Formats: sequence, structure tokens, C-alpha cells
Amino acid sequence: MIRATTFAGKTVAVFGLGGSGVAAAQSLVAGGADVAVWDDGVAAREAAAASGFKVVDLSSADWTTFAAFILAPGVPLTHPEPHWTVVKAREAGVEVIGDVELFCRARAMVAPKSAFIAITGTNGKSTTTALIAHLLRELGFDTQMGGNIGKAILTLEPPAQDRVHVVEMSSYQIDLTPSVHPSVGVLLNVTPDHLDRHGTIEHYASVKERLVSAADAAVVAIDDKWTGQVAARLEDSGRLYPITVGRGAVLVPRLYAIGSSLFVHEKSGSYATSEEVVQLDGIPSLRGAHNVQNALAALGALRALQELADRGEVELTVNGVPHRIWDIERIAQALKSFPGLAHRMEQVGQTDQVLFINDSKATNADSTDKALSSFQGDIYWIAGGRAKSGGITSLAPHFGRIRRAYLIGEAENAFAQTLEGQVDYVRCGSLEAAVTAAAHDAGLERGCETVVLFSPACASFDQFRNFEERGDAFRRIVEMLPGVSKSRGTV
Ligand code: ADP
Repeated sequence: MIRATTFAGKTVAVFGLGGSGVAAAQSLVAGGADVAVWDDGVAAREAAAASGFKVVDLSSADWTTFAAFILAPGVPLTHPEPHWTVVKAREAGVEVIGDVELFCRARAMVAPKSAFIAITGTNGKSTTTALIAHLLRELGFDTQMGGNIGKAILTLEPPAQDRVHVVEMSSYQIDLTPSVHPSVGVLLNVTPDHLDRHGTIEHYASVKERLVSAADAAVVAIDDKWTGQVAARLEDSGRLYPITVGRGAVLVPRLYAIGSSLFVHEKSGSYATSEEVVQLDGIPSLRGAHNVQNALAALGALRALQELADRGEVELTVNGVPHRIWDIERIAQALKSFPGLAHRMEQVGQTDQVLFINDSKATNADSTDKALSSFQGDIYWIAGGRAKSGGITSLAPHFGRIRRAYLIGEAENAFAQTLEGQVDYVRCGSLEAAVTAAAHDAGLERGCETVVLFSPACASFDQFRNFEERGDAFRRIVEMLPGVSKSRGTV
């Protein structure tokens, strides 16, 4: 656990007692603060009281006694309107911050030159964060990963010279981290999403920009309009590492991709060279154009970190001894053993000729577009759930490669209408019926490898609690099919 000592002897209020809120309260108590916690939910308050926290009704508390207010990132700070606790904090002149801010202040005190990589973007954050952490571990570094992925940041081991922190940050978390200052900031992409919480895309993009503009080195994928503009503003800073999968190279990139080959571009005086450093073909966990961007970002982060270490701006040591991070042969090797993340193009089973892919995280057509693009043909596609606006009409370019669609959940009728006359489909109702039918049909195919792809393009809430539960159900059903062997990893 990381002790937040910057509020020792002061009183701090914490609202929102999920994993990160409780960890923040623990960390503040361990750091010597007097902590008042509160939550809208009775169960969360009771659990906090049972754990020994001081539960204080913040709606009637005297806010002028608080030195700071720690807000959980899921609670609205600005849009659609500030939460009542935020209004009270502002009225009393109390700063509103999040758990990552406590981490940043702790790091600034105990190990300001320790390596800290922070990753943001609309899509691909978790994959890129996990990939960077995997590469660092394989390269021999003591690596701590958390934030918006896995563990709450304050439950990690504390910053230290011999340790690297790899932290996924949503825009909500950046909003609550005024002194964010990573060694390397990574910005993957900005597309309209979460605008309910950020008002406009301009505001959403500007929050994400803050992460990279505050970083010692900024890795920015310049493939969309918004990130391109961010990179243009950072161009003269000398800290920018533009990367591109080739769509919008308005700036000379430091790393780029042609297909699944990754290149590094070096400039020394008037000489410039480009070298192919990694080939992603045959790495199942990094299949698909979107993963090319994620892999480029991971390599960009390692490259940037090495250059910061070379200039003495970051400590990069193992057992106190400087340790090279930019060792391209070892990086290429380490990429091959990346296991990928559950529920994102995760291979959960196979027979001699059928692969079963769990892409339950695909809760909208955009994500399913990435999944369908990753396979050549003969796709037995399971889709449905609670549809998003627009449904699956945007997926029409892939329809020719779908052998049959198996529809489930509330979206059955709407999806059937879209597919009518273009794709053979069956209404299955339940996931179990869909998997059984798809496995049967795919198994009849002789002589070529086929895919049963569960990429629902829908929210899960009509039949499951969340996408994780839905993906686990898919895995269980697949594993019970006759002749299927379990296989791990993602494709
Ligand atoms: P996040 O943590 O940002 O939600 P994930 O790594 O969990 O992202 O990936 C979620 C989904 O987003 C994937 O299943 C894939 O469909 C899509 N995705 C992943 N990486 C990218 C990318 N670089 N660009 C666009 N979409 C992506």
C-alpha cells in the first residue's frame, strides 16, 4: 500500500466507497490523516464503519474543517452537473482531487525520478497498459500496474528508484489529478464517447491532452483529428513521440506501422533512418489493426523512457544498477508472450478446425467492427443483447465474410431486420442456444479453419450483470462442448 502522508495531521473527506475510495481512505489514515468517509449507499457506509472508518454524513458536515476532498472517479465532477459534494467543497474552498493525485503527491515526495507511465485514450487503454507492464516485467523491471485497470493505484507498492508504475487513466481520473506529471504520458485516440460526463468533445479532448502535455515525454498516436491537434501543439516541445498506423501522418512520426510491421524513425543531424524493429504477424494476442496502434504506443513508451533515462531525467534501475530498456530483440521476444486481456478477442477454446473467441467487451458496433476486421472469412458470429443507437448498420462492409449470424437478447428483431437479405441468420434467444448452434455449423465446415466469434455489439444488461459475467458464461458454455479443448490467450 502507498501511504498518503501529505495530509498528515489534517482532516480529509472521502466520498464514494468503491475499491479506489476505500483504498484512498486507508492510505490517508496510514499517512496520519483524520479521514471522514461517506457514500450514498447504506451498505457501503455500513461496510466502511465495520472496517473501522469514521463515517460522517457529508451533507451536514462542516466542510471548512476539510483540507481536501477525495472524490471517486465515477461521481460527476462537472457534467451533466457537479455532484452535491462537489458543490459543497467548492463553496467551502476545499480542493477536489482523486486517488491518483494522492499517488502523484506521494511520488513527488519519495521518488520524483522514478519511472511512471500513464496511459489514456478513448479505446485501447487497458490493452496498452497491460502490454507495457508485460514488456517491462519481461525485461526484468519491478513493475506495478493499476489505476483504471486491475488494482486501485494506492494499493500498489510505493514509488521507488527500482520500480516502474504503469497506470491506466480515464478522463475522469485525469480531471481529478491536477498535478499529474508522468515520466511518459501515452495518448492513444480521442473519439466521441462519455460526452455525458465531459459536455463537449473539445472539453473531453482537452482533459486527455493534459496528461501528455504535463508529461516529461509524450507518446501521441496522431491518427485522429483530436490527437493530431494535440501533437501539433506539442511539436516544438522536444518531448513529443508521434506514432501512427498510417492514417494521418501530418507530423514525421518516431514510430510507425506498415501493416503489422513496426518501424522506428531516427533523425540525427541531417540524416534520417527508418528501421523495421518488430513484426506482429503470428502474435495471437495482438491481431487486428487496433492492436497495431496499441503495440506502437507500448514501444513508443519504452523508447521514450530509455531516452529520459539516458538524459538522467528518470531512474531506470534493477537492484540499484542502471538497466537498459530499449533492447529490441528482447522486446520482440516479450511481445510474443503477451497473454492479452480477458473478454477482448480472447481465445477460450478450440477444436481441430474451430476457434472460439470471446469478445464480450465489445458493447458497441465500433468494437465489433475491430473484431470482424481481424478475421479473413468464415465467421460464425454471435451478436445481440441490449442494442446501442445505430445498431449494427455500420458493420455492413463485413457482412460478406459472415457465414451465419446467431442472434440473442433484446436486439434480436432489430439485428434481424438489418441482416435481412444480406446475411444468413438465426434467432437463438439465449447465449447457450447460440453457441451450440454456431459450434455445430462451424464444425460441419471441412478443411478450413473457422471462427465462432462472440462479439455482441450490445450492452449485456438484458441478460447479464455486466460484460465480464457474459464473457464468463460464453467461456463456460464453450468449455462444455464435446471435443473442445481449452486454449488460453487472445487472438
Ligand atoms: P479501454 O480500456 O480503453 O476500454 P481496451 O483495451 O479494453 O480499451 O479495449 C476495448 C475494445 O476497444 C477492444 O475490444 C477493441 O474493440 C477496441 N480497441 C482496442 N484498442 C483500440 C485502439 N487502439 N483503437 C480503437 N479501438 C481499440
